[in-house]
Amino acid sequence: MPSIKCSCGTIINMSEIPNPNEWLLISDVEYDNFSGQIDSEKLYMKMKTMLVCQKCKRLLIFWSDKIREATSYKLED
Ligand SMILES: [Zn+2]
Repeated sequence: MPSIKCSCGTIINMSEIPNPNEWLLISDVEYDNFSGQIDSEKLYMKMKTMLVCQKCKRLLIFWSDKIREATSYKLED
């Protein structure tokens, strides 16, 4: 997925590694399954991807494993 289009029309680049537009999320319940030294790949696999549109500050979160289906959250006015 090289890029995704925000509702405001901005193209969010997904090709940079690490990606300055991307955040990784994990629930407290999922994180609690890890302890001590952990395998970063196993942790990564449990994380959800969140993108931040730098123009409108919308958050696009990929809640499911289907990488093309993001839920968009807009700032309140
Ligand atoms: Zn936007």
